[in-house]
Amino acid sequence: MSNEIHTIHDFDLNIIYEYFSSTERQGPGNSNITIKALSFIEGLTDHSKIADIGCGTGGQTMVLGQNISCQIIGVDIWNNFIEQFNQNALDKNLQNRVKGIVGTMESLPFEEEELDLIWSEGAIYNIGFERGMNEWKKYLKKGGYIAVTENTWFTDERPIEIQEFWEKAYPEIDTISNKVRLMQKAGYLPIAIFVLPESVWTNYYAVTRRLQKVFLEKYKNNKTVEEFITSQRYESELYDRFKEYYGYVFFIGKKI
Ligand code: SAH
Repeated sequence: MSNEIHTIHDFDLNIIYEYFSSTERQGPGNSNITIKALSFIEGLTDHSKIADIGCGTGGQTMVLGQNISCQIIGVDIWNNFIEQFNQNALDKNLQNRVKGIVGTMESLPFEEEELDLIWSEGAIYNIGFERGMNEWKKYLKKGGYIAVTENTWFTDERPIEIQEFWEKAYPEIDTISNKVRLMQKAGYLPIAIFVLPESVWTNYYAVTRRLQKVFLEKYKNNKTVEEFITSQRYESELYDRFKEYYGYVFFIGKKI
């Protein structure tokens, strides 16, 4: 019985893995944005140590590795993503400096004040922005940086339909000014805050729309796949309709 449940569980996860790993990134973002965010970080040397939390297959980590010559450790809870991450590092000849390890953001395998920079694109929501800001700070050296992207409200008010959707999906969604206040409360000096352009979402959704077609063909009559894709499509439709009210924002802070 428990074996059967496991099999179904694994199958579901494998589909989701297959779906997300066929994209270079598992969330909205691109190389230019990563490089722009990196330009606000000062003082990195060859000896600096960086962690990329919730790194996925490492789209952004490889960009970091190609632009700075530090040690970079990617951490993700999903073994399959980490395997692909390490393959990507090898393909790009970054394997000596860029390594992926399986771990959870709720209990990171670092020592206090070990890190010069914590990076996390499209992933801090898994622990929650406030908790991540507070709990990850101890791993940073004084003067070290944190750079994360977070889904954020652009306006103080918004239509009820989108408000209800995101409050259910991510109750911590909040305005830019409230997020900045949380950063400051956690002990960071806000260094740069910028909104990711609409194109990161439209590109992301264009890629996933193509994948959805392929998946529906491949897994015909599979209820799990159909439900999963329906929810993905609904999210992207909502984005088209309500994009002036929310989006991803880069929050970059310095531990003081
Ligand atoms: N940073 C990547 C992936 C974003 S998707 C990108 O921008 O492309 C979010 C990632 O967080 C997924 O890879 C997921 O496996 C990972 N994740 C979810 N919960 C986690 C946890 N508790 N600890 C570590 N990683 C987690």
